[in-house]
Amino acid sequence: MITNELYGLLQCPTCHSRALYVLDDGVHCASCATVYPLREGYLDLMPRGMHYDYVSKYVTDETELAEELDYRELAPPLLAAGVRDRALRRLLRFRPTDIVLDNGCGTAKHAVWNADQVHLMVGSDPATLFADRAVAEVALAQADSRSLPFAEGTFDKAFAIDILEHFPLEVIDAYLAETARVLRPGGRMLAFSNTREMSPIQPIINLSRRLGRLFVRAGLYDFSREARRKSDHIKALETWEDVVAAFERAGLRPVKVVFWNSLFTTFVEHVVMKLGEAVLGRTAKKPSQPPPQAAKDPSADPYLASLATQTTPEGTAREIRARQRVRSHLRPGSPVYRALMVITLVMELDLWLFGWMRCGSYFIVVEKPR
Ligand SMILES: [Zn+2]
Repeated sequence: MITNELYGLLQCPTCHSRALYVLDDGVHCASCATVYPLREGYLDLMPRGMHYDYVSKYVTDETELAEELDYRELAPPLLAAGVRDRALRRLLRFRPTDIVLDNGCGTAKHAVWNADQVHLMVGSDPATLFADRAVAEVALAQADSRSLPFAEGTFDKAFAIDILEHFPLEVIDAYLAETARVLRPGGRMLAFSNTREMSPIQPIINLSRRLGRLFVRAGLYDFSREARRKSDHIKALETWEDVVAAFERAGLRPVKVVFWNSLFTTFVEHVVMKLGEAVLGRTAKKPSQPPPQAAKDPSADPYLASLATQTTPEGTAREIRARQRVRSHLRPGSPVYRALMVITLVMELDLWLFGWMRCGSYFIVVEKPR
């Protein structure tokens, strides 16, 4: 979505001028004459003529990942994504007057889920794997977080969920410095990421992983899709001290921290959900049986259906099939939705019970000094 209000926040990401004007074909910079074209549902605000050593795999492998990530249709905020989203809301306390930046939004799911809480929700990402609802409901910019196309002091709040672990240190520094620049004084940012630190209760958490591995050996499911999703995690901020130091270098002051020791979460993800997926995602054994509902349903995305049956490894195909089947039952208030919400709240117990206990996964809220 492109709104007039978005235009009012912009500055040229190439030369940093605010002398911009809008024509039918896009946003023009009066200083450096760059034209930033309007695309379908978003603005292309990538800085021009800059060379960066680091490029996200979501940009370089965008076409492949588009197939893999199953990104167009959003499920409601449930399970691990639900825990993140509920923590985001609770810790950042959105207000109806807020202008908020989802910096590195990906599909922009968290932006979509919280857009109705705030005055203007902006999503920004160098890759354009935006969900359909994001294109409809969120102001979207294709942008590089090292040279954001927004004026200083624009945003009341910003968030970075599952971002920092992907970047080398110099990119983290540039990302945080730019986020600090576009926040207003007193504005707050939430980051969710992880270091290399172990949870003090890791041996107990690992029991669930071990149980999960038994199922893998029995051929019930595999974790290949999940492993690929995490394949570019660098975790340049190795310790909690590194995290605090990085925010301080950017002039952002920590105000609140919650750690995520994933005791209940790991049990749910590695045992409960994967068993459910194995059941829901199993293929028809005999050719006489009807094909999976998702492939038959004319309203289902035929592209996704073909993906689920042809181009991806069996584990991934099974997971996508399971997700499609579950998704069709996910209307808020439905029995499946309620069951998954209960499981989400069980996972969230990890934050309430163990949030004080330092470990690798963390939510941090920081503030730009007034
Ligand atoms: Zn310019």
